[in-house]
Amino acid sequence: MATMKAARWYAAKDIRVEETSIPTPNSKQIKIGVKFAGICGSDLHEYNHGPQLIPIDKPYLLNGHQGVTTLGHEFAGVVVEIGKDVTGIKKGDRVAVEPIFRNPESPFIATGEYNLSDPLGFVGLTANGAFAKYVVVEDYMVHKVPDNMTFEQGAIVEPAAVAAYGIQQSGMKMGDTVLITGAGPIGLLTVQVALASGASQIFITDLSENRLKKAKEVGATHTFDARDKDIPQKIREITGNGVDVFIDAAGVQASFDTGIKSLRNGGTVVLVALFSREVTDDALDHALRELTIKGIIGYRNIFPKVIALINSGRLPVEKLITNVISLDEIVEKGFEALTQDPSEVKILVDINR
Ligand SMILES: [Zn+2]
Repeated sequence: MATMKAARWYAAKDIRVEETSIPTPNSKQIKIGVKFAGICGSDLHEYNHGPQLIPIDKPYLLNGHQGVTTLGHEFAGVVVEIGKDVTGIKKGDRVAVEPIFRNPESPFIATGEYNLSDPLGFVGLTANGAFAKYVVVEDYMVHKVPDNMTFEQGAIVEPAAVAAYGIQQSGMKMGDTVLITGAGPIGLLTVQVALASGASQIFITDLSENRLKKAKEVGATHTFDARDKDIPQKIREITGNGVDVFIDAAGVQASFDTGIKSLRNGGTVVLVALFSREVTDDALDHALRELTIKGIIGYRNIFPKVIALINSGRLPVEKLITNVISLDEIVEKGFEALTQDPSEVKILVDINR
C-alpha cells in the first residue's frame, strides 16, 4: 500500500511524524495535496493537555473516526482527486478548507447555522488532517482561492474566519471602539479584521510584550499588559464611556473581568476563546448595564468573504507568520516552540519542504 508522511497524535506530548496510509475519497469527498498548514491553539491544547476534541473513547458519529489522529485543520493546497458525485470543484483547483463537519440530520442545516449542528467536529481533530502530504475532506468544506493568493495566505483563511465571524457577530459598526483580550493568532487577526471593518480605536491586552508589539504592527492603537489592574479605568479615560465591543480571545477570569468592566453600557462581548475553566459572572451588573453576551463557535457562511478580503490586500494575514518549518520539525520547532516561546505567533508547516 502507498504511504505518506504525517504528524499523528497518539497522546498528550506524543505526536509522531511517521508513515501512514494515503487516504482515498468516497463519492462525496475531495482529496487535496496539502501545500501549507498552520498550527492552531487548539492543536497546541491537544498536544499539551489532550485529548479534548480527538475521539478516543468512542468513534466520531459523523465518520466513525477514532484514536490516533493526523492533526492539521488550517490549510490550503491543490485538489488532486474528486469523488464521482462532487460538483463545482475539479482536479487542479487551488483551495482553502473550512474544516467544520456538518451533521446532515441536524435541524441547524436547514437554517444555515451549520456550525451549530452536533456533534461538533473538525478535520484534523475528528478526522485525519493536513499535517500530511494528502488529506481527504467533505465536498462542502472546500473553497476555491484566487490564483494570485498564496498558499501561505490560504492556510490562514481558517483562523481569519474565526476572527471575522467574531467581529461580524459583535455587530461592530464603523467608528466603534473595540477591546480584544489576548494577542495570540486569533486576537491579532481580530485586530486586523476590526481595522478593515472601520474600528476607530483598537485596544488589546496580553502578557507578552512581543505579542503586544506585533499587535501595534498590525493595527492596534493601544496595548496593555494584561496584569495591569487599571485597564478599564484607562480605557474609560480614552473613550469617555468604555468600548462598544469586547472580544475575549484569552478566555480566563481576569480577561473576562477586564473586558466586562471596560465595556460601555449597552456594549457587546463576544466570547471567542475556548475557556478551559468556568468563570464567575455578575449577571445583575449586565442586566443593569444592558450588556449583550454572545458566544461563537468556529464560523459559518463567511469563508468566501474572508478569502476576498485577504485577496484585496486589506487583511494582510501573512504578517502573523513567525516561522515556516518542515513536517519533520513539527514537534520541536512547532508545538514545543509555541508552548515555550511567546514571541511565536503563527507557525506554518511547508508540507513539501
Ligand atoms: Zn484552529
